[in-house]
Amino acid sequence: MKLLEDKIMAEGLALSDSVLKVDSFINHQVDPVLMQEIGRDFAEHFKDAGITKVLTIESSGIAPAVSAAFFLGVPMIILKKQTSKILNENFIQTNITSFTKGTSYELTLSANYVGKGDTVLIIDDFLANGEAAMGAIRLATKAGAKIAGVGILIEKSFQKGRQRILDAGYDVYSQARVAKLGEGLIEFVREDD
Ligand code: 5GP
Repeated sequence: MKLLEDKIMAEGLALSDSVLKVDSFINHQVDPVLMQEIGRDFAEHFKDAGITKVLTIESSGIAPAVSAAFFLGVPMIILKKQTSKILNENFIQTNITSFTKGTSYELTLSANYVGKGDTVLIIDDFLANGEAAMGAIRLATKAGAKIAGVGILIEKSFQKGRQRILDAGYDVYSQARVAKLGEGLIEFVREDD
Protein backbone atom coordinates (compact mmCIF):
# COMPACT_ATOMS: atom_id res chain seq x y z
CA MET A 1 0.00 0.00 0.00
CA LYS A 2 1.81 3.06 -1.31
CA LEU A 3 0.30 5.52 1.16
CA LEU A 4 1.61 3.50 4.12
CA GLU A 5 5.03 2.96 2.53
CA ASP A 6 5.35 6.70 1.88
CA LYS A 7 4.44 7.46 5.49
CA ILE A 8 6.99 4.91 6.76
CA MET A 9 9.68 6.49 4.58
CA ALA A 10 8.75 10.00 5.76
CA GLU A 11 8.32 9.33 9.50
CA GLY A 12 9.47 5.79 10.35
CA LEU A 13 12.68 5.40 12.29
CA ALA A 14 14.80 2.25 12.04
CA LEU A 15 16.15 1.86 15.58
CA SER A 16 18.27 -1.16 14.67
CA ASP A 17 18.35 -3.89 12.05
CA SER A 18 15.20 -5.37 13.57
CA VAL A 19 13.05 -2.63 15.16
CA LEU A 20 11.10 0.06 13.33
CA LYS A 21 9.63 2.95 15.29
CA VAL A 22 6.36 4.36 13.97
CA ASP A 23 5.25 6.27 17.05
CA SER A 24 4.25 9.39 15.15
CA PHE A 25 1.43 7.75 13.17
CA ILE A 26 0.61 4.26 14.58
CA ASN A 27 1.93 3.41 18.04
CA HIS A 28 1.62 6.63 20.04
CA GLN A 29 0.19 9.45 17.94
CA VAL A 30 -2.34 8.03 15.47
CA ASP A 31 -3.01 9.42 11.97
CA PRO A 32 -6.80 9.06 11.54
CA VAL A 33 -6.81 9.75 7.80
CA LEU A 34 -4.18 7.07 7.23
CA MET A 35 -6.17 4.69 9.48
CA GLN A 36 -9.26 5.30 7.36
CA GLU A 37 -7.39 4.38 4.18
CA ILE A 38 -5.78 1.35 5.86
CA GLY A 39 -9.22 0.11 6.95
CA ARG A 40 -10.66 0.67 3.50
CA ASP A 41 -7.77 -1.28 1.94
CA PHE A 42 -8.19 -4.25 4.33
CA ALA A 43 -11.94 -4.29 3.70
CA GLU A 44 -11.39 -4.26 -0.06
CA HIS A 45 -8.83 -7.09 0.14
CA PHE A 46 -11.01 -9.34 2.35
CA LYS A 47 -14.42 -8.32 0.96
CA ASP A 48 -15.30 -11.81 -0.34
CA ALA A 49 -14.07 -13.74 2.72
CA GLY A 50 -17.40 -13.75 4.58
CA ILE A 51 -15.96 -11.95 7.61
CA THR A 52 -18.31 -11.55 10.59
CA LYS A 53 -15.85 -10.08 13.14
CA VAL A 54 -12.51 -8.28 13.12
CA LEU A 55 -10.12 -9.21 15.95
CA THR A 56 -7.10 -7.27 17.10
CA ILE A 57 -4.62 -7.17 19.94
CA GLU A 58 -4.55 -4.17 22.22
CA SER A 59 -3.44 -1.49 21.83
CA SER A 60 -1.84 -0.50 18.53
CA GLY A 61 -4.10 -2.72 16.42
CA ILE A 62 -7.27 -1.03 17.62
CA ALA A 63 -7.27 2.01 15.31
CA PRO A 64 -6.70 0.12 12.04
CA ALA A 65 -8.98 -2.74 13.14
CA VAL A 66 -11.91 -0.48 13.95
CA SER A 67 -11.50 1.20 10.59
CA ALA A 68 -11.43 -2.18 8.76
CA ALA A 69 -14.48 -3.32 10.76
CA PHE A 70 -16.30 -0.12 9.83
CA PHE A 71 -15.73 -0.67 6.11
CA LEU A 72 -16.62 -4.38 6.39
CA GLY A 73 -19.75 -3.50 8.39
CA VAL A 74 -18.96 -5.88 11.26
CA PRO A 75 -17.98 -5.54 14.97
CA MET A 76 -14.37 -5.34 16.15
CA ILE A 77 -13.10 -7.25 19.18
CA ILE A 78 -10.03 -6.38 21.24
CA LEU A 79 -7.96 -9.30 22.51
CA LYS A 80 -6.77 -8.25 25.96
CA LYS A 81 -3.24 -8.45 27.26
CA GLN A 82 -4.43 -8.00 30.83
CA THR A 83 -7.39 -9.73 32.41
CA SER A 84 -9.71 -7.34 34.18
CA LYS A 85 -11.90 -8.36 37.10
CA ILE A 86 -15.04 -7.83 35.03
CA LEU A 87 -13.79 -10.22 32.33
CA ASN A 88 -13.79 -13.11 34.78
CA GLU A 89 -15.98 -15.72 33.20
CA ASN A 90 -16.37 -17.45 29.87
CA PHE A 91 -12.95 -16.36 28.73
CA ILE A 92 -10.31 -18.19 26.69
CA GLN A 93 -6.58 -17.57 27.09
CA THR A 94 -3.30 -18.34 25.38
CA ASN A 95 0.29 -17.45 26.24
CA ILE A 96 2.22 -15.05 23.97
CA THR A 97 5.86 -13.96 24.01
CA SER A 98 6.25 -10.29 23.09
CA PHE A 99 8.81 -9.57 20.36
CA THR A 100 9.55 -6.00 21.44
CA LYS A 101 9.51 -6.50 25.22
CA GLY A 102 10.84 -10.08 25.49
CA THR A 103 8.16 -10.80 28.13
CA SER A 104 5.17 -13.09 27.98
CA TYR A 105 1.51 -12.46 28.70
CA GLU A 106 -1.87 -14.21 28.61
CA LEU A 107 -3.92 -13.06 25.64
CA THR A 108 -7.59 -13.18 26.56
CA LEU A 109 -10.86 -13.35 24.60
CA SER A 110 -14.38 -13.52 25.97
CA ALA A 111 -16.28 -16.40 24.34
CA ASN A 112 -19.35 -14.14 24.52
CA TYR A 113 -18.12 -12.26 21.47
CA VAL A 114 -16.64 -14.90 19.16
CA GLY A 115 -17.96 -18.40 18.55
CA LYS A 116 -19.10 -21.02 16.08
CA GLY A 117 -20.54 -19.39 13.01
CA ASP A 118 -18.00 -16.54 13.08
CA THR A 119 -15.38 -15.97 10.40
CA VAL A 120 -12.72 -13.64 11.72
CA LEU A 121 -10.10 -11.33 10.28
CA ILE A 122 -7.13 -10.79 12.59
CA ILE A 123 -5.41 -7.41 12.32
CA ASP A 124 -2.17 -6.28 13.93
CA ASP A 125 0.25 -3.40 13.46
CA PHE A 126 3.45 -5.44 13.01
CA LEU A 127 4.36 -8.97 12.01
CA ALA A 128 7.74 -10.11 13.31
CA ASN A 129 8.00 -13.72 14.49
CA GLY A 130 4.26 -14.29 14.30
CA GLU A 131 3.76 -14.91 18.03
CA ALA A 132 0.89 -12.42 18.41
CA ALA A 133 -0.88 -13.44 15.19
CA MET A 134 -0.55 -17.18 15.91
CA GLY A 135 -1.86 -16.55 19.44
CA ALA A 136 -4.87 -14.69 18.07
CA ILE A 137 -5.48 -17.57 15.63
CA ARG A 138 -5.30 -20.08 18.53
CA LEU A 139 -7.82 -18.08 20.56
CA ALA A 140 -10.31 -17.63 17.73
CA THR A 141 -9.99 -21.30 16.81
CA LYS A 142 -10.56 -22.35 20.45
CA ALA A 143 -13.69 -20.19 20.41
CA GLY A 144 -14.93 -22.18 17.40
CA ALA A 145 -14.46 -19.47 14.75
CA LYS A 146 -13.07 -19.84 11.24
CA ILE A 147 -10.03 -17.74 10.30
CA ALA A 148 -10.45 -15.66 7.13
CA GLY A 149 -6.88 -14.40 7.29
CA VAL A 150 -4.39 -12.13 8.97
CA GLY A 151 -4.09 -8.45 7.99
CA ILE A 152 -0.86 -6.67 8.91
CA LEU A 153 0.13 -3.03 8.51
CA ILE A 154 3.91 -3.57 8.58
CA GLU A 155 5.46 -6.96 7.95
CA LYS A 156 9.17 -7.38 8.63
CA SER A 157 9.72 -9.90 5.86
CA PHE A 158 13.21 -10.80 7.11
CA GLN A 159 11.63 -12.37 10.21
CA LYS A 160 9.81 -15.68 10.26
CA GLY A 161 6.21 -14.61 11.04
CA ARG A 162 4.82 -14.64 7.52
CA GLN A 163 6.16 -18.11 6.75
CA ARG A 164 4.91 -19.42 10.09
CA ILE A 165 1.35 -18.27 9.38
CA LEU A 166 1.44 -19.56 5.78
CA ASP A 167 2.83 -22.91 6.98
CA ALA A 168 -0.08 -23.15 9.42
CA GLY A 169 -2.41 -22.79 6.43
CA TYR A 170 -3.64 -19.21 6.82
CA ASP A 171 -3.72 -16.25 4.44
CA VAL A 172 -1.56 -13.19 5.26
CA TYR A 173 -2.05 -9.79 3.67
CA SER A 174 0.55 -7.18 4.60
CA GLN A 175 0.13 -3.58 3.47
CA ALA A 176 3.83 -2.76 3.75
CA ARG A 177 6.56 -5.40 3.58
CA VAL A 178 9.94 -4.34 4.92
CA ALA A 179 12.82 -6.30 3.39
CA LYS A 180 15.66 -4.67 5.33
CA LEU A 181 16.24 -2.33 8.25
CA GLY A 182 19.41 -0.67 9.45
CA GLU A 183 20.41 2.63 11.01
CA GLY A 184 18.77 5.18 8.72
CA LEU A 185 17.81 2.44 6.24
CA ILE A 186 14.35 1.14 5.37
CA GLU A 187 13.90 -1.03 2.28
CA PHE A 188 10.65 -2.56 1.07
CA VAL A 189 10.08 -5.89 -0.63
CA ARG A 190 9.59 -5.16 -4.34
CA GLU A 191 6.46 -6.56 -6.00
CA ASP A 192 8.50 -8.87 -8.23
CA ASP A 193 10.64 -10.26 -5.33
P1 5GP B 1 5.42 -11.02 16.68
O1 5GP B 1 4.38 -11.45 17.65
O2 5GP B 1 5.01 -11.19 15.25
O3 5GP B 1 6.75 -11.61 16.97
O4 5GP B 1 5.60 -9.45 16.91
C1 5GP B 1 4.54 -8.60 16.59
C2 5GP B 1 4.20 -7.72 17.75
O5 5GP B 1 5.38 -7.14 18.30
C3 5GP B 1 3.33 -6.58 17.25
O6 5GP B 1 2.06 -6.70 17.86
C4 5GP B 1 4.04 -5.32 17.67
O7 5GP B 1 3.35 -4.74 18.75
C5 5GP B 1 5.41 -5.74 18.15
N1 5GP B 1 6.48 -5.43 17.19
C6 5GP B 1 7.25 -6.33 16.52
N2 5GP B 1 8.20 -5.72 15.81
C7 5GP B 1 8.02 -4.41 15.99
C8 5GP B 1 8.73 -3.25 15.48
O8 5GP B 1 9.71 -3.31 14.71
N3 5GP B 1 8.25 -2.03 15.89
C9 5GP B 1 7.19 -1.91 16.73
N4 5GP B 1 6.80 -0.68 17.06
N5 5GP B 1 6.52 -2.98 17.23
C10 5GP B 1 6.93 -4.21 16.86
